[in-house]
Amino acid sequence: MQTSSNKKQLVIGNWKMNGSSAENASLLLSLLPVISRFESVEVALCPPYPYLTTVADLLDDSDVALGAQNLSAQLSGAHTGEVSASMLHDIGCRFVLVGHSERRALYAEDDDLVAKKFATALRAGLIPVLCVGETLAQRQSGETEVVVTNQLNAVLKAVGIQDLVKGVIAYEPVWAIGTGETATPEQAQAVHRHIRQYLADQDRAAAADCRILYGGSVKADNAEQLFNQPDIDGGLIGGASLDAMSFAAICWAAQTGPITDSIAI
Ligand code: PEP
Repeated sequence: MQTSSNKKQLVIGNWKMNGSSAENASLLLSLLPVISRFESVEVALCPPYPYLTTVADLLDDSDVALGAQNLSAQLSGAHTGEVSASMLHDIGCRFVLVGHSERRALYAEDDDLVAKKFATALRAGLIPVLCVGETLAQRQSGETEVVVTNQLNAVLKAVGIQDLVKGVIAYEPVWAIGTGETATPEQAQAVHRHIRQYLADQDRAAAADCRILYGGSVKADNAEQLFNQPDIDGGLIGGASLDAMSFAAICWAAQTGPITDSIAI
């Protein structure tokens, strides 16, 4: 039997290090009137730090939430160039990405640092979006589940299952990010099911409630098939979130009724 829950699908746009004041305003001018009509999907946008407050103002009359792409694991003080969780909360962020593969690969963020950032975000009242996923070499050598499980375990060890599921998990195979190569719906569902089952082994109800997003070259033409998988609860969208009509089409594809997941009861 399958379980169903009333959680909405969630679509998060990660603008990465792109945009300008003018480009952001123009993107939102096109996007917001369209997605304001979609009631059964939750949407968030993660602009670069310098634009958070102006984007917050532009989102003010909408239901679109604000998110940040990163945060410091430190609370405050002498950490030049860093941005704290409480600052992000203070300016209206609801979400923050943690452990994006670009942070792990290019900025040497390891599992322990990611777990610390996750805990710090939660304590400040933010919803951390924990990114996990394997490289191509790891997939080819059959290590996908081990890698993802280890990434989850680091956070589980730091905060426990009850707090882990206060966040969101984003499965993002590294080989699919920004490459145009998407996991097939079946490949993605297999890993999502593994994640949900792993969480269910510790707390079945918490696992059913936890939102697990897919990320990696999601586009308007593949979103629906991905989002229709029983354990995929929405998407983390990079490149396609920079184009208003592509992102709107992805949000439309996530418009669904109650989600049903695969955990047997
Ligand atoms: C991402 O940045 O998290 C991402 C999934 O990027 P893209 O959609 O461009 O692959």
